[in-house]
Amino acid sequence: MGVGGDGARRTKIVATLGPASADSGAVAALAQAGADVFRLNAAHLTPEGIAPLVALAHGAEGAAGRPLAAFCDLAGPKLRVTRGPGDAPLRDGAGVTIGAAGSGAEIEVEGIDPARECPIGSRVLVHDGKVVLRVEAAADAAVRAAVVRGGSVGPGMGVNLPDVETSLPSLTEHDRRCIAAALDAGIDAFSLSFVRRAEDVAELRRAMTAHGRTVPVIAKLEKAQAVADDALAAIIVAADGVMVARGDLGAETSPEMVPVLQKRILRQARAAGLPAITATEMLESMIHEPRPTRAEASDVANAVFDGSDAVMLSAETAIGDHPALAVEACARIVREAERHPEFRAGWTTPPPSADAAEPVADAVAAAATAAADQLGAAAALCFTQSGSTARLLARHRPAAPILAITPRLEVARALALVWGVRARVVAVPADHEEVVALAEREAVRERLAAAGSLLVITHGAPVVARPLTNLMRVHRIAG
Ligand code: PGA
Ligand code: MN
Repeated sequence: MGVGGDGARRTKIVATLGPASADSGAVAALAQAGADVFRLNAAHLTPEGIAPLVALAHGAEGAAGRPLAAFCDLAGPKLRVTRGPGDAPLRDGAGVTIGAAGSGAEIEVEGIDPARECPIGSRVLVHDGKVVLRVEAAADAAVRAAVVRGGSVGPGMGVNLPDVETSLPSLTEHDRRCIAAALDAGIDAFSLSFVRRAEDVAELRRAMTAHGRTVPVIAKLEKAQAVADDALAAIIVAADGVMVARGDLGAETSPEMVPVLQKRILRQARAAGLPAITATEMLESMIHEPRPTRAEASDVANAVFDGSDAVMLSAETAIGDHPALAVEACARIVREAERHPEFRAGWTTPPPSADAAEPVADAVAAAATAAADQLGAAAALCFTQSGSTARLLARHRPAAPILAITPRLEVARALALVWGVRARVVAVPADHEEVVALAEREAVRERLAAAGSLLVITHGAPVVARPLTNLMRVHRIAG
């Protein structure tokens, strides 16, 4: 184990910013506690509210001493209740009318007209599936539904229609305004809610291109339609990252499907070299409590064992009573899981698909991982223009920390989400021996290595021609 190797955490932490964490002191505390990436939830923001939060995230980099990323989570075709049936909870077996906003129905839903889109027999779920309604008949401009499982229904609660392929566009007008504002504010990535097919990701890319700047897209997997085999494979090809969005995924499929789908999605994303986030209810009780439950600790640890690049906190850091404690608890659980001898065990990395974009770089990444593991190297270093070599190295999950050296700040920030990668922004020299000398200096500077340590280094040679990664060097630091 190299210097500092024991203390380095491989699995990253995403913290959602919100009222409980929206000033520079709070964001600095989250970064200090271990947050690597910040999520801005556009569902609860105005376009004008985005730039100050991006500035807070990037503003914490100086004190943290590492790149920090901010991504904007677009609500997409998320349905919400705009009017509820009153204060009393709905009782099992009762009847209720459901219609579009302004229809006069007892429950009004924004974004869709249930009278047109919800056939008889289909389910309408409210509040992450806590309340279950089943459509029984048409009723003027609405539908009449039976209450299968009762509970409170009020404005703002989410609505899921798991039996309906809705006609909704993947981006709302609010999303489009948020895309423009976030791009102007220097956002590092977007996540898109309720992705149904690869085309939804393409539509977001077109919106970015029209605005003149494109950033990576994380597809939130929370529809049954999206995790069907063919759709998932196509979405993974189209997107730059995925999120196992367990809240809505559990409502749209079933809670018992969530752990199974989590494993499948994480494995497929890793095979493709895409970073994958496991999200929602990870430390839910810490919204109010200063300590996690045993089940929550197990859930975070198992997300690590399942191969997540990152675990995400939502309400815990956005509106909770103890945002920094939640991140600290998360980091402690992750560290302990990563010390377990079976961490990384069973993670065989499948070969790249036949049409992989960078087969040579991936082969070098595989060779570098094998050499680093066999030799007990202190770090695996890569020089990367786009970040792709770092993602390929991470795909092979080396035991040693990965140090990515890139001339581009936005690439370093995007790598904050990727398993095992630390990134440094440094200009790359033009000569191979100078590249090795720089790798040595940076590894020592990051306290990953010292005199006598072994480094495995990859880059593209000849450096001046800037080819993709095609070379691996094993280097022992003198001393
Ligand atoms: P949300 O997405 O928090 O934006 O709903 C995550 C999830 O559904 O799990
Ligand atoms: Mn969701």
